[in-house]
Amino acid sequence: MRSIPILDLAPEIDLMRKDLDAAYHKVMDHGRFIMGPEVKEFEAHVAEYLGSKHAIGVNSGTDALVIALRAAGIGEGDEVITTSFTFFATAESISMVGAKPVFADIDEKTYNVDPDEIVKKISERTKAIMPVHLYGRPAAMSRIMEIAEKHDLLVIEDCAQSFGASYEITCLECHGKCSRTGKGQKLGSIGQLGAYSFFPSKNLGGFGDGGLIVTDDDELAELCRKLRSHGSLKKYRNEMLGYNSRLDTLQAALLDVRLNHIEAFNSHRRAVAERYTRAFADMDGIIPPTPEDAGHVYHQYTVRVTGMDRDELAQKLEEKGISTMIYYPVPSHRLPVYGSAYNHVELPITDRLTDEVLSLPIGGMFSEEDQKRVIDSVVEILSS
Ligand SMILES: *Cc1c(COP(=O)(O)O)cnc(C)c1O
Repeated sequence: MRSIPILDLAPEIDLMRKDLDAAYHKVMDHGRFIMGPEVKEFEAHVAEYLGSKHAIGVNSGTDALVIALRAAGIGEGDEVITTSFTFFATAESISMVGAKPVFADIDEKTYNVDPDEIVKKISERTKAIMPVHLYGRPAAMSRIMEIAEKHDLLVIEDCAQSFGASYEITCLECHGKCSRTGKGQKLGSIGQLGAYSFFPSKNLGGFGDGGLIVTDDDELAELCRKLRSHGSLKKYRNEMLGYNSRLDTLQAALLDVRLNHIEAFNSHRRAVAERYTRAFADMDGIIPPTPEDAGHVYHQYTVRVTGMDRDELAQKLEEKGISTMIYYPVPSHRLPVYGSAYNHVELPITDRLTDEVLSLPIGGMFSEEDQKRVIDSVVEILSS
């Protein structure tokens, strides 16, 4: 029996192959591999798509977070409130700039940081909030922005899993009259800064590492541009300690091709998610993600397994040739890197969901036939 991987990029690449090949040859012909013209072109296209004033290509999503934090002036002695229920790079970026990640618990319905829990964690040292739009679902940005404005905090969005996702925002100052108010505002520039990842498995996956910072703020954008290139805008006139973190010309050229397909791939993911949710809605022992979020791009389709041991279900699916993943088996505050630093921190919902979540196969061109096999297998195992 053919096995079903958690994500199969081959059909997407086949669909784009001619355009990818053309982009590759164009870059080979001009040979400007660092900061070639395709970088600016891609940045312009992606900024327009995301509805943000500036888009700055960098080396990875992790670098995007680190550079965004540095641009925001966050460092030693500062605290940043975030979620523990995420990939380690979120907390890692905060620790890397010398600040302290402070973990707030999540909402069990959305898997995203709970605004009420954020409020409880605010201290004199808090400088910023870093929400993660986990699995492609927008975090509660209206509430988060309200809290940030009230306590004079910055908001840096970790959008690594949410390329193309959107959120309905209402501007807090004018309550619905200005340009920052709109249905379907894309993520990243609701807060002051946003960080995207082009890791190959992400919704807008590249062909190697890559990342992006978005912001509407001219000064922050200039700082990010400096930081990604050794702290200089002008060659050999370094003004600050920065990084070697540019987006490769070749990556930019290839990503520009994929950007043309992102709407189609994301709406395909939504259709897949809808079918999964319909199939699992009335079943005991499995809780599908709450479906009412229209802006969700389902980077992952993640259920909670309550009717049997989650690892046993994963094992039985594996025996049927179906791959699943656990994102993430250990929450950030319990990772060995932090030793006993967070032993006193209690995040009951994070801990419970860590034991329950299971991500099922999904993708921009995941076939109905394979999906039917996944659904039938889950139903069979759970009802036996
Ligand atoms: C993937 C990911 C990152 C890091 O992105 P890289 O491009 O792999 O460095 C950061 N945060 C989250 C939530 C991610 O999923």
